[in-house]
Order: sequence, then C-alpha cells, then structure tokens
Amino acid sequence: MEPKNFHHPFQPYDIQQQFMQAVYDCIENGKVGIFESPTGTGKSLSLICGSLTWLREHKRKKFDEAMQNIEVDDDEPEWMAEHARESKRKEILHMRAEFEERLAKVREKERKLREKQTSGEPFRKKRKQDGPGEEREVDVEDQFALDDYNSDDEATPRQSGQSQYSAETTKLLEKLGMITPAKDDRTTDDIEEEMKIFFCSRTHSQLSQFVGELQRVHLPAGLPPEKPIGVPDQDPTKEATQAIKQITLGSRKNLCINPKVNKLSSQTAINERCMELQQSKTPSEKKCQYIPSKDDESLVLDFRDHALASIRDIEDLAGVGRKLGICPYYASRPAVTPAEMVTLPYPLLLQKTAREALGISVKGHVVIIDEAHNLIDAVEGICSAQVTISQLRSARESLMTYLQKFRNRLKGSNRMYVTQVVRVIDSLLQVATPLESEKGIGGVVQPSALLAGKGVDQINLTKLVRYISESKLARKVEGYVLHLKSAEDKSKPGEQHSQLPETPTLTHVQNFLTTLMNPSKEGRFFWSKENGSVILRYMLLDPSEHFRDIVEDARAVILAGGTMSPMEDYTQQLFPYLPSVSTLSCGHIIPSSNLLVRIVSANSDGPLEFNYKTRSSAHMMQRLGNAMLSVLPHIKGGTVVFFASYAYLEQVRKQWDQDGTGARMNVLKSTFFDSRSVSVEDTFRAYSDAVATDPKGALLFSVIGGKLSEGINFSDDLGRCVMVVGLPFPNLETPEWKAKMQYLDSRAAARGEASGKASREHAENVCMRAVNQAIGRAIRHKGDWASILLFDARYAQQRVQTKLPGWIKESLPVGDEAKGGRVDAVAKDVASFFFLKVGGHDHSMDLI
Ligand code: SF4
Repeated sequence: MEPKNFHHPFQPYDIQQQFMQAVYDCIENGKVGIFESPTGTGKSLSLICGSLTWLREHKRKKFDEAMQNIEVDDDEPEWMAEHARESKRKEILHMRAEFEERLAKVREKERKLREKQTSGEPFRKKRKQDGPGEEREVDVEDQFALDDYNSDDEATPRQSGQSQYSAETTKLLEKLGMITPAKDDRTTDDIEEEMKIFFCSRTHSQLSQFVGELQRVHLPAGLPPEKPIGVPDQDPTKEATQAIKQITLGSRKNLCINPKVNKLSSQTAINERCMELQQSKTPSEKKCQYIPSKDDESLVLDFRDHALASIRDIEDLAGVGRKLGICPYYASRPAVTPAEMVTLPYPLLLQKTAREALGISVKGHVVIIDEAHNLIDAVEGICSAQVTISQLRSARESLMTYLQKFRNRLKGSNRMYVTQVVRVIDSLLQVATPLESEKGIGGVVQPSALLAGKGVDQINLTKLVRYISESKLARKVEGYVLHLKSAEDKSKPGEQHSQLPETPTLTHVQNFLTTLMNPSKEGRFFWSKENGSVILRYMLLDPSEHFRDIVEDARAVILAGGTMSPMEDYTQQLFPYLPSVSTLSCGHIIPSSNLLVRIVSANSDGPLEFNYKTRSSAHMMQRLGNAMLSVLPHIKGGTVVFFASYAYLEQVRKQWDQDGTGARMNVLKSTFFDSRSVSVEDTFRAYSDAVATDPKGALLFSVIGGKLSEGINFSDDLGRCVMVVGLPFPNLETPEWKAKMQYLDSRAAARGEASGKASREHAENVCMRAVNQAIGRAIRHKGDWASILLFDARYAQQRVQTKLPGWIKESLPVGDEAKGGRVDAVAKDVASFFFLKVGGHDHSMDLI
C-alpha cells in the first residue's frame, strides 16, 4: 500500500512515516499517546505533519458531512434542495475565502514593508506615550495601603482579572472573545471557533525552534476552494496549499510592551501592576495606553490578522504589538478562535487558573506536549510547595510592622484577614520551631498538626488564600517593609540597597497554605532540614488527578519526547484510569553500524556491581578503574562517564588518586571532573577544547541529574563514548520516597496486585529514565556515531533491558552476549568499532 502523504517537506524516512502515522491515528481515534523518537530524527516536523494533516483532512470531512446534512423541506423538489445546499456551501466557502484573502493582503503588505526596509516603522500611528516624570506625586506610603475588601460577596466569585475592568472594557473584551462573558450572551465576530492543536513545550526557546519548523510545512486547505455551481470538486491532492494559522501565547513578562511595566523585576510585579492600571479607580491618564479601548475594535482585529497572517514566535508577536501600538498579551486572545495551532509553554497549559486567565479551553481540541519526559515532574512541581522557617518568621515580622503602621486604616474585612494570616503563620511556626532541635533530618507532618494553632480551626482557608491573592497583601506588605529599609539604607551611604525579591516571602506562605486545601489522599506534608534550617514541604503523590481535566476535555493527548522510555511510568502515574494508551518507540535514523552498545558486567578480578552495599569498597572502585583503563585506549575523541551522584564520584576520585588509577588515566586522556563547586560552563569549555586539540582525546566525569545532565549535547567528537557507572536509583530512604512508595503500593493493593511490586517498578523507572536521558545525548543527528557502555552486571537483567529505548535495545548483542560481557571482550568490540569508524587512521590502535 502506498504510504500516506503527510506533506512532509522532505522525503520522510521510514521511522518518520511511522511516527506521523501514529500521531494521525492517535488523534483520529481520540486516544492518549506516548511517542518517543530520538533526538536528530526530525521529531518536531513529524509531529507537525502528522497532526496538521489530520486537522486539515478532518475539516474537509466535517465540511462535506455538514453539506450533506443541510436540512431541506421534504416536499421540495430535488433540484431546489440541491440549490439550497449549494448556496449554503458557497456562503461558507466565500466567508472563509474572504478571511484568507485578508490574511494574504496582510502578508503582501508586510512583504512590501520588508522590501522597503521600513520594518522599524509602525504600521499605524502609535498612541501617545506618557512622558517621563508624569507620575502623580502621592503620599508614598498610600501606595502600600490595602483597598477595602469584602470577600463575603461569594455569589459572584471573581475570575482572574475580569472584575478589574471597567464595564466598557469588559464589554469590548467579551465581544472580542478576550474574556468569557458572565452570561452566554456573547456577540461573535465573523470567525468561528476552529478545531485546533495546542502544542506545548517547556521553554520559549524550544517553542521558537518549533515555530521555525512550522514555517517549513505547506498543506492543502481544509475546506475546498470556491467554485461555480456545477463545476466538480478538484482532486484535493492537487489543490494549492493554504497558510497555517498559528498563534503563540505567552505571559505578560514576555508580551508586555509598556516600558513602565515590563521593566519591573518579576512576573508577579508585572502582573499586578498591569491589573492595577486597568482598575476602574485608576485615572484614565494613568491607565495603560496599550490596553484595547472601545475605539480599538478594528485595531484588535488588525492585530489578529497580522498575528495569523504569518507564523510567529513570541518575540515576533510582541513586535507586532509594538508596531500596532496595542497590547499583544490581550490582543492575541481573539486570534485563538480562528487559529489552527496554538503554541504555549507548559505552565500556561498545565495550570487550570492560567488557562482560565487566558480564556482558553482544550475541550474537543488536540493537545500535544513535547519534551514530555519532564511532564510528571512539571505537574508535581506546579502542585507542590514549601516554606522555610526563616520565611515564616520574616513574613510574620513584616506583617507586624505593617499592622503597626496601617492598623487604623484597615477597612472592610482587611483587619480580620491580616490577623488570620498572622495566626496561621503562628500555627505553622508552632510545628516548625521544635523541629530545629530534632536530631533527624526529616519526617512526615500531619496536616491537622499544621492547623492546630489557637483559633485556626475557625478560619476558612479558601477565603483566606483568596484574600491574600486579591488584596495583593504580599506585595503591599513587602513593599512597605522595603520602603522603610530603603530609607534606612539612604542614611548609611555605601551600603547595598535592598530590592524587592522575585517572589515575596508572604507568597511562599500563601502557596503553602493553598496545598493545605488539597485532598489529603493526593499528597503528603514533610519536614526536612537544609543547612540547619527547617523546611515544611508539601509533595503531590498523585499527579494523575491534576492532569485528568486536560485528558478528559481534549479530543486526543500526545506526549512526545526524544527519550520517553520506560513508558509505564507515564501510564501508571498520569493515566492509571485509562484502559489503554497508544505507545511508539521509534528507531533511529542512523545506520546500525553507527552505534555500539555493550554491557560491561565483569573484569578479570570479578563482577562489576555498584549497588549501595558493594560500590564503596576499594576493590570495586579499583575494579572499575581497571575496566575503564582497558577500554579507554581504543576510544578516539571525547568520552563522557556518568556516575550516580556527586558523592560517589568524589569517593571514586579519591580512591583512584590513592591507587594510581587517576594518574594512569591522565596519561591516556586529558581528564576533567564535573563538581558542585566549579561552574559547569568552565568545565565543559575546558573539556571541549581538549577534545578539539588533544589527539589522545578527553575524558569527562559527570553525574546523572547533575549540572551537565540537561541542556548540553555530546554530539560528534564531544561524545564518541558514553559510559554509565551503576544504576542511579533515588535514595529510597528519604521520607518523601517512603511516602511515595507507600502510596503506590497501597493503590496497587487496592487493584489486587502483589505488595511492593508497584513501588519497585516506579523506582526502577525513575532510575532508567535518568540513564536513558544520559545515553540519549550521544547521538544527535543522522551522521553521528558513538559507543555506549553500561558498567554494571544488573544491566544484563531482562527487566532492566526492557526499560531501555527501542533503538538502544536493538543495538545490544543477542543471545548470551546480551547478558553482558567481560571487559576484555568489550574492549575488543570497542577497538573494532573505532577502527571502522575512523577509516584506518585510528591513533588509539597505536596504544593497544
Ligand atoms: S495592558 Fe499589556 S502592555 Fe499594558 S501593562 Fe498590561 S500587559 Fe503591559
């Protein structure tokens, strides 16, 4: 059968075709999929082509069905019914064609502007900006006073930001689809909601790369072109392509164009300042000039058309806002409705509050999460919180200072709530303070103990947390304390001036209080000590519930990544309630001769096994050194060795310094060590220089999960050999891990599974995910080649090998050899591999 055309800009490799088909099928069947395609295999393009081909075909199918189902009177003759259908069809196609034409005109206008090199000019006259020094002189302390607050008005709970707009602005924002109206009485624009793909990645730079790939893809239109009645439809494969309509969403920090606001130091400060400027009590001359006003409807639509006319990343979008003189943060929202692809960073999708604030819903749409290997951590991170004892003390002290100054000016419910915050902090301190003298390093804390302080049982935590957020208590209190401190600083010239921190201390307390409202079965509270200071921490144990609303709302959800194995971790942790999940582990595009994978189980002195009991013996460390010394002479270019922890690496280094192994390695290679005390950039630069200049090659000792484990690629000569020493299991003795294991086992027991299996499986999965991340960085493109050596007899176990990515597993020798080899046999394989790869000019062979 002819493979399906996914409109890939190049002739796709088999694995790319397979990947695109899997993406297409997953969306078509409305499933959840976990797909892995190693780095360098064109994963982004495959995701784009697979999903957008589905989208355009789906649109065509839906359109054809809708046309077939247009209701006509039964007693009308067939020719009249046909005419009615054709008129409706023409009307819809004409409306779409008009929209496309508008976008085409914008593209043409931009092209001409670029040609004239006037891209720095505004598209239209900017609104007048406030001049410097126009700030109204007010009593400086007034700005720290709390506004009247009455939270008992619960009949109309506020949605983020909406209540802050004036009635006029609210009406306009509703009309433009920028906020959800209170009642369903929206007037809509001429554009209907499109089925869309929400594409999400971790950072804006990853999204920018994705947007770059999107620009290379050209697809036929979803709807057929307009044609006169009676003319048959064209063959869809011969139709002209139609530009993809894409919009990037970002935070105010990325998109604010008001120089008085975007220069503020933190995301929170920018958000709060922006909201303040929109409040109805703010004098109109002080409001942000870029927020759309009632006269700006056509400007907002202009922005929408400019945003959608070309594929743009976040910086381009801010540029469009600047040129049009309208806020891109708000004006981008109407562009979501007609967009086919919405790109956004993790937190904006994962947090329900962020989705609500942006007015986006994934209901019925497709969600693709790229770089999803960190998704579980991201969900857990968003829902977990911690507060230190010094933050609690400092927040309390600041509140008392604030109360002293403003007590008589606190109106409405302000005084009651501020007093409640102090009481709750006292309650937390009541638990944390005695722990300072505890001998242990940590343990579990019961939520009831955290709220056992005097009068705390009378406090409604939900209302209190809402109050802290809506009153902006944290900023007001911290701002006032800082103001006092600055006055003090001025009297002491030469001393460093205090600055408002990125996150106010009270916000840490607020975040922690929020976790106290979570259902107790989902998470646990812990205490621990770092540098002698007590930390109270909430850890989410079950991330599945926090991801479930996305899974249930979306038509299909795809988690994609370069290294997603072992995939059971995602199915068990994120989708335990789903009967099935589609999975695919793609092979690599490199020829099999470009990869050598071997397990090193033993050397002539005995087995190599680096578990907690055996790894610290001098014999085992010496044995490891000798095994490496047998292999290193055959390796050309760079070798990166990953250890399980900095502590173990230090231990091994000390041993090798004593027994002479270190000195022998230095003779063979220029040697470098990653360390907690040296900058990662310096270490990596020195290593890269040595790889480039030293004909013997270089050796870099690093740590899995350490500073060199993310964001640095070991492509080409930087990583011709990647070695992993041992299996980097997490420390299962910490209170957090114990709680997690207990939780997993109790959930598995409820399903009738054997005790201890689920927790052991999870620990192995976490360990192997870390190993896979490390070894996956050796091959980065289709011409790359490398060897991967796994030092530990446990890698020969079938259970461990099933957790390796497909393309690594395929490269392992089969039969008895798969069980692992003695280092002398492996050294021979390595020598032959390098001899073949360097085409007979293998300098390392001289050293054999
Ligand atoms: S409305 Fe837009 S430009 Fe104005 S302050 Fe807010 S984010 Fe910045």
